[in-house]
Amino acid sequence: NTADLHGLPPGVPEHLQSEGIEELYPPQGDAVDAGILDGESVVASIPTASGKTLIAELAMLSAVQRGGKALYIVPLRALASEKKAEFERWAEYGVTVGVSTGNYQSSGEWLGSRDIIVATSEKVDSLVRNGAPWVDDLSCVVADEVHLVDDRHRGPTLEVTLAKLRKINPGLQTVALSATVGNADEVADWLDATLVQSDWRPIDLKMGVHYGSAINFDDGSQREVPVERGQKKTAALVDDTLKEGGSSLVFVNSRRNAESEARRLADVTKARLTGQERDDLRELAKELRDVSDTDTSDDLADAVAKGAAFHHAGLASEHRALVEEAFRDRLIKVVCATPTLAAGVNTPSRRVIVRDWRRYDGEFGGMKPLDVLEVHQMCGRAGRPGLDPYGEAVLLAKDSETMDELFERYVWAEAEDVRSKLAAEPALRTHLLATVASGFANTRQGLLDFLDQTLYATQTTESGRLETVTDTVLAYLEANEFIEREEGTIRATNIGHTVSRLYLDPMSAAEIIDGLRYAADKRVEKLRVIEGGGSASKSSKSSRPSKSKNEPDETAGFTTASELQAERDGEDDDVEDGDDENLDADDFETTYPTPLGLYHLVSRTPDMYELYLKSGDRETYTELCYEREAEFLGRTPSEYEDVAFEDWLAALKTARLLEDWASETDEDRITDRYGVGPGDIRGKVDTAQWLLGAAEQLAGDLDLGNNVAVREAKKRVEYGVREELLNLAGVRGVGRKRARRLYEAGIVSRADLRDADKSVVLAALRGRQKTAENILEAVGRRDPSMDEIEEDTSTRVAAG
Ligand code: ADP
Repeated sequence: NTADLHGLPPGVPEHLQSEGIEELYPPQGDAVDAGILDGESVVASIPTASGKTLIAELAMLSAVQRGGKALYIVPLRALASEKKAEFERWAEYGVTVGVSTGNYQSSGEWLGSRDIIVATSEKVDSLVRNGAPWVDDLSCVVADEVHLVDDRHRGPTLEVTLAKLRKINPGLQTVALSATVGNADEVADWLDATLVQSDWRPIDLKMGVHYGSAINFDDGSQREVPVERGQKKTAALVDDTLKEGGSSLVFVNSRRNAESEARRLADVTKARLTGQERDDLRELAKELRDVSDTDTSDDLADAVAKGAAFHHAGLASEHRALVEEAFRDRLIKVVCATPTLAAGVNTPSRRVIVRDWRRYDGEFGGMKPLDVLEVHQMCGRAGRPGLDPYGEAVLLAKDSETMDELFERYVWAEAEDVRSKLAAEPALRTHLLATVASGFANTRQGLLDFLDQTLYATQTTESGRLETVTDTVLAYLEANEFIEREEGTIRATNIGHTVSRLYLDPMSAAEIIDGLRYAADKRVEKLRVIEGGGSASKSSKSSRPSKSKNEPDETAGFTTASELQAERDGEDDDVEDGDDENLDADDFETTYPTPLGLYHLVSRTPDMYELYLKSGDRETYTELCYEREAEFLGRTPSEYEDVAFEDWLAALKTARLLEDWASETDEDRITDRYGVGPGDIRGKVDTAQWLLGAAEQLAGDLDLGNNVAVREAKKRVEYGVREELLNLAGVRGVGRKRARRLYEAGIVSRADLRDADKSVVLAALRGRQKTAENILEAVGRRDPSMDEIEEDTSTRVAAG
């Protein structure tokens, strides 16, 4: 009984009771028996939706009650604020909560005053690197979805972060929450924790495969769901649930499929809505449409008006939040989702349909079956405790062989083991530098000892592998001057420290530094030519700085794109001549490097996820590459260097997207042109902003030229505006569109805003009084009230 729980802040047990949490679920009881209320470490490997969060809360609250501080590590940024909101209900009992999502450079000192801190593993890693003082005071750490240490990209960060936190705070209580995996015992060994493992679920889950005209369940039962001629299976299954008042969650393998499936299923749900639901959905659709001015927004709103929605990482977070909420409220009847939703987001549903069990995998080079773990997590979303009698998870088979395969592969199967991915070079590159920079180790042996505390070390049978990769990585870091070695002692250089604090992959930092050096050399050369009074286009080779390592290597036999261009034009000129064409010599000092050049530079680092080249793109971007070559900060690879050239073009595509954004191109044009969603634009913009911020600092530290250009390119991408709007767009509440309208109304700066005629401001803001007042207040106008100009503003503006 939860009323009998000990060691919690007074009032908490009663609060749990009032929420209807009267009895602990059996796995929660096991965790309490294992000592989570007394500071003991626990790995809880239990099914989705069986109350893992409460286990974490009990551990954290009891830690706080003992005067300690707790950290909750979430796998997705989107979950951080959700968890924070959830934990904030403990504020009543004196427990404070902070969430740290912001940029990667702050030390987050203010978090020191919070009892519970929520952050992603990347953020925690960066806080440790930046020496956040409160890290030493932690007494409890929770790792949500700890099985993600298996993830190739993000797993190593979680793994190293846990190892570091445990090293800083010996005796740290570690609570790791995991989906059901094959080897939870190994994870528990690694973390010196007691294992709580269970298959228990609060609501029965029936898993089955639909084949022919029925679902065949794992318990031997069947449910008739005939599929009419011309009807899709998903439509039949969704309708079948709807008839009983249940909702469905359909998992598909791509964004496009999520959208098209939602469109199709909207016709099914539409037919079963009540009048009230139709009205509510229309309202919701309007809200969704207002989130962003894009096709995605419109498509989503269209489907939602009929009771269906899609959900994927291309959506804006506001979209996602609205969809999830309306689905939980049972207003939206079906959600078609890519698997992102399965991880973490609390969206239970009567029926889960796993439509696609294969997904395109670029590295694999074809369609690849999903992991058992993933499918189980999707299925685990079936059944809403208290609302549904049971949950149903259904896979689809077109013939009986497939049905047998699906039973073997997923229904009867155990989830895979979790395997550490730490020994991969990119992961170690980042983490070894950070480990040296933040003083965790300063010898090769010290590093190896530290690595010995990771899951990798407990799992590996291949002795020596970690050592080999470590040596490769140390050599790389030394060659790029991020570390120095002297008589066996390893130290981070100044720039190495900076790179670690900026949270850059050292390879990104090296690329950025090379690019900035290239630009600096080019400036020196260029300005010399201008000052010397020579024609800019006739720079002689002898006037060039002689030893830059970034110059094109003309002896190596590569053909650069500009050389090809010259050939096509029937010219036989040298490379630099081509370079000069797009850059006006007079403006050179202020305009070089250009935003596109800088966007391209940060887009080719491993920290920026690439946009893939689609069919036809290669031609388009090769063309553009010739056109804008003078702006690139580095040597364009030859077309014959297949992979390198392809990467260069992919980076150009991203750079072009950023340039469009920073030139006020409409969001929907951008989503069309690049085949991305609004969420992707924001993701790219955020990343670019961070990387350009890093570039700005590196340029300053290394004294590499035009910092102003970097800052301006960063600001422009941050606000999504052209240069002339930078002053206005930074005002809270203004944004790119309003800034443009104000500018067109003759208000071009903050100073103008402070003095402007209120009616002009109001008209430029389309008569939105409250908005106008907030904006005027934000620029510090003494009397921002709009009360006196309530009447029709359009006439006044026309008059003025
Ligand atoms: P998980 O993290 O394991 O996926 P959650 O922690 O989100 O699952 O729990 C799912 C739901 O179960 C939540 O709505 C939670 O409030 C509820 N819940 C958790 N523990 C109990 C309990 N002991 N009694 C009743 N409801 C509970």
